Amino acid sequence: MHADVVIIGSGVGGSAVAWQLAQTDARVLVIERGENLPRELENWDAEAVFGQLRYRTHETWLDRANQRYRPGQYYFVGGHTKFFGTAMFRFREADFGEVQHEEGISPAWPISYADLEPYYDLAESLFGIRGDVSGDPTEPPHCSPYPHPPVPDEPAIARLRRDFERQGLHPFHMPTSIDLGSGGGCIRCGTCDAFPCRIDAKGDAEKCLLRPALRRGSVTLMTGARVTRLVTDATGKRIVSAQVESREGRKTVTGDTFILSAGAVNSAALLLASANSRMPRGLANSSGAVGRYYMNHNCTAILAIDPRRVNDTRFPKTLSVNDFYYASEHDEWPLGNIQMLGKIREAMLRGAMPYMPKRALRYLSEHSVDLYAMSEDLPDHDSRIELTEQGEIRLVWKRTNLKPHARLVSKTKEILRRSGFPLVVSRRFGEDTPSHQCGTVRFGVDPALSPLDPLCKAYDHDNLYVVDAGFFPSSAALNPALTIAAQALRVGESLCRSLGPPAIANRIVEPT
Ligand SMILES: Cc1cc2nc3c(=O)[nH]c(=O)nc-3n(C[C@H](O)[C@H](O)[C@H](O)COP(=O)(O)OP(=O)(O)OC[C@H]3O[C@@H](n4cnc5c(N)ncnc54)[C@H](O)[C@@H]3O)c2cc1C
Repeated sequence: MHADVVIIGSGVGGSAVAWQLAQTDARVLVIERGENLPRELENWDAEAVFGQLRYRTHETWLDRANQRYRPGQYYFVGGHTKFFGTAMFRFREADFGEVQHEEGISPAWPISYADLEPYYDLAESLFGIRGDVSGDPTEPPHCSPYPHPPVPDEPAIARLRRDFERQGLHPFHMPTSIDLGSGGGCIRCGTCDAFPCRIDAKGDAEKCLLRPALRRGSVTLMTGARVTRLVTDATGKRIVSAQVESREGRKTVTGDTFILSAGAVNSAALLLASANSRMPRGLANSSGAVGRYYMNHNCTAILAIDPRRVNDTRFPKTLSVNDFYYASEHDEWPLGNIQMLGKIREAMLRGAMPYMPKRALRYLSEHSVDLYAMSEDLPDHDSRIELTEQGEIRLVWKRTNLKPHARLVSKTKEILRRSGFPLVVSRRFGEDTPSHQCGTVRFGVDPALSPLDPLCKAYDHDNLYVVDAGFFPSSAALNPALTIAAQALRVGESLCRSLGPPAIANRIVEPT
């Protein structure tokens, strides 16, 4: 099998490149280890999704103590966006420069916010983002407003917004890719964040990028096909083929250009697993940085409980607060972002509080307003993905910046108590939830320090790009999907140029 461009992984990174390349005549093959996510009643069933972990991978990873666990990884067409909470933030301008944090430095990116702005704009239009550019003092400049007005608050969230404003905070409308609003398909099913959407109302990578690309005809998707190794030519400079394990057995796919987008953990693992005599430390790895600098935000779920009120909100993710994002009068260090979490259900609490009777958990979930505090995790050389001799993934996450995160959580709790909630509890997300994984194949201007150049091309290879969240040199403190999409659209556009006409000129933005 041969393709002009082989894309490995159909998440937001891979699908964004496919969307761009669909405007050329290039034959593009997207290889995806997962299948199409089935549409079924269980999509919206908290017991199936959280109690039985129906969609979570069965593969296991090892932690630093070699304990086996089943990570929160989801292998389906569209990648993690099939389960994501639809929060589509731009990183802030300062996130692209060097930022001093309490526990170290968040390094500068090799590109500026201005370099990415047009692609943020394109990504927002492809994902049909609903939001309001005017509400958040930290919002960076936009060349155009969001394509749609924000999703209105439901009553419990509107009340919270008033309480926050009364305390001098600046809550704003969270940008979201949910198709909820005039003419939209969303029916406020009451599940969303961490659930698949049964009626395709979530703006995910499959819906907004991959399907439009597949409709153009020159892009093909191979599912149930896991790439196990990339093979180079004798010089080691060019990738010539990908070895694939699929239902039909082993295959070899040859290609002219390879776009790796298997997710930050799996892309690094694949590069390491592809070591050969020319590249004994793994592909793209003369810097030694592949698999290192793993980051995953410091995230905590905060439940504010008021026994006097049932919270019947169906889509709570309409409010966010960035008053603590930068160092300010609130704290001498950047603390991070606060946003709404999807509505918590009894089955979700069970894992965290197995000792509590179901009835008590149901009561808590019915009376809670649920928030999510997120702080930046800083890149650390020893925070890393390794492969065991058997080729299994060992993830040693060296968490950083936990002190400011603890302060963000305690400030959020304080604000919630002042908003009238008598009981506020919290729980930090652990290593088994690598939802915002990034940083393992970082881009940068110095090949001695970074595997990728500023266009995500591997310095060591002429025809290999990595476009999933692995390229992030820092994690910022906002959800990553829009930034992955924007950079992948930028890389894709540059590839279109190099592939020649009829690229670019025919751009049609498909309605979402
Ligand atoms: C529950 C949850 C909620 C989230 N909520 C938000 C949110 O609200 N906003 C936000 O911005 N972000 C959110 N995120 C994070 C966001 O979804 C991810 O950052 C983003 O989707 C990652 O995109 P990616 O392209 O880097 O990788 P992925 O989405 O992981 O895509 C990688 C793809 O490659 C495939 N693959 C892996 N290995 C191989 C292989 N060897 N061969 C072939 N295919 C392979 C995978 O099956 C997958 O489809 C959330 C994540 C989760 C899990």
